[in-house]
Amino acid sequence: MSTTASMSDATTTTPSTTSAAAQAKAAGKTLLKVSGLRVGYGGIQAVKGVDFEVREGELVSLIGSNGAGKTTTMKAITGTLPAGAGDIEFLGRSIKGRGAWDLVGEGLVMVPEGRGVFTRMTITENLQIGAYIRNDKAEIAADMERVFVTFPRLRERKDQLAGTMSGGEQQMLAMGRALMARPKVLLLDEPTMGLSPIMCDKIFEVVQAVSTQGVTILLVEQNANRALQLADRGYVMESGLITMDGDAKALLRDPRVRAAYLGE
Ligand code: ATP
Repeated sequence: MSTTASMSDATTTTPSTTSAAAQAKAAGKTLLKVSGLRVGYGGIQAVKGVDFEVREGELVSLIGSNGAGKTTTMKAITGTLPAGAGDIEFLGRSIKGRGAWDLVGEGLVMVPEGRGVFTRMTITENLQIGAYIRNDKAEIAADMERVFVTFPRLRERKDQLAGTMSGGEQQMLAMGRALMARPKVLLLDEPTMGLSPIMCDKIFEVVQAVSTQGVTILLVEQNANRALQLADRGYVMESGLITMDGDAKALLRDPRVRAAYLGE
């Protein structure tokens, strides 16, 4: 694995306040750790042995072009696809082979590509389903209020059927529903896929806001520029392997990243 965009590079070039925040996160405990992960479809290896980790409070972006293996990695982490070799640890324990529903209860929550909202239910009902693992009614109501503050559009439409909302609004709903489960790590798979530029801006703003609220996030994105601007650290995935990693701003400056993903 290349380490061109090293942590030391970042600490010498970022302002001291950012650097202090970055150092605090870098010293944070590892919540999610993927080691030597391999995932295949039949005989075809889509993920060929990847290692990465996400620490408490971080926003980590996993970037790469179409077919690099990003979605496959996310599905293997959350138990929606069987992992082959390697291990996946969440909160210090192996979760390999565990099912997605089970992991939501432990705080590992994914917003999948394509959102997966319940189209025939209202916005409020979708959000309530996000909290299905909880029975603390007052806290659930407080969390729903917090989601409505983060996503005012959802409050405006709270009694509307989810299927009648735009793609961007459904993405907000999917993120709001995931937040109702009080994730310890939130996995976002291509949240801006298929959205208009204005809606993409809105979604990136919301991802930043949720991160600032203290939620740990692993973001998979094809928009490398925006994803690295938001992130603390980044990983670049190509043909099933991690080929670069490091401080997100250092990756943004890396000529190889600029040539391959930023069209320069
Ligand atoms: P994208 O941005 O297009 O979603 P990605 O980086 O998320 O790309 P994956 O969707 O993980 O990539 O795909 C990795 C590889 O696995 C690709 O070669 C893809 O064709 C293959 N693949 C994905 N899903 C399946 C499937 N259900 N059956 C067979 N091969 C698959």
